[in-house]
Parts: sequence; C-alpha cells; structure tokens
Amino acid sequence: MAAGYHSVDLSRFALRPGEGRKLELDVEPGELDLGGQRYAIRGDTVPARLDVSRTAAGYAVRMRFVAHVDGACMRCLEEADVPVEVDAREVDQRGTADEELTSPYITDHELDLAHWAHDALALAMPLQLLCRPDCKGLCPVCGASLNDADPAEHEHASEPDPRWAKLRELKLDQ
Ligand SMILES: [Zn+2]
Ligand SMILES: [Zn+2]
Repeated sequence: MAAGYHSVDLSRFALRPGEGRKLELDVEPGELDLGGQRYAIRGDTVPARLDVSRTAAGYAVRMRFVAHVDGACMRCLEEADVPVEVDAREVDQRGTADEELTSPYITDHELDLAHWAHDALALAMPLQLLCRPDCKGLCPVCGASLNDADPAEHEHASEPDPRWAKLRELKLDQ
C-alpha cells in the first residue's frame, strides 16, 4: 500500500501569523487522465517539499515536487518517462469572498494534499508527452521509429511506376 500523505492538519504546527514550517513528505498524485489517455506516476508516491506559512487570517502554502510520468510518446508510441516539475501555491484567507484568496484545497486547517497534488500535476503536464523533446516520430511510409534510424539513411527508394515503363515500350515500338 502506498504511503503518501492524503491530507495535512495545518493546525498541528501551532504557527503564529508570520511563522512558517518546511516539510518533506510523500505525495500521491494518482493517475492522470489527459485527452482520454491514462498516465501513471512512476513509484506512485513522490517526495515533495511543502512550505507552510501562517498569515494574519489563514495560510499560504507552496508545494514542490518532480513526478516521473509514464505513458506512450505521442509521436513514436514508445514508452516515455517524462519528468514533470510542479511548483504550486495556494492561499487561504478566512472570512473573504475573494476566490483568489480561498483555496479549494484548504478547509479550516485541513490541507487536502492528494487532491492538490493531482490537480497541480495535471496543470503542469506538457501539452505533448514525448519520450524526448526531439523525438523524430514514425516514418510515414513504413511506420518504423526514426529515432533508431539515421533519417538521412532511412529512405524509401521511389519505385518507378510500371505504367511509365509500358509507355516507354510503346514509344520504342513506333
Ligand atoms: Zn518518441
Ligand atoms: Zn520508412
């Protein structure tokens, strides 16, 4: 069973306004569903750094981690391991209607870490998941991966059209 933190009780640090606490803990972002494709996190849990600050009327929290996302490369379909860097901040201020200051992940003193890690990772995902930034993709003719081949050498000789050969024969007959 994975041992990632699902939530953190921020009140247990007994921080006063202006005080902060740095935490190292494991988060569990879960699987991602992007454009109908499923992506899993390598190792299920990811070591994260959490900075918690007590503000006058609430909390400011920063979460940082690097998750290795497994999935098929969108160009060559090979297995890709893409490091995705997450650096997310949330502010939660008591007694305000301002959405910018009301975090959906903080309820009273409870930080919903799993939910936040999942959403933050989804936001940080690249638009194209590639096995490497310069992936050359698949040959449009034979479907072979061009990463394994020298593109200068991977060529398909254009076969002469047999109909042209026939035409040539006709001309010779005249
Ligand atoms: Zn690729
Ligand atoms: Zn080819």
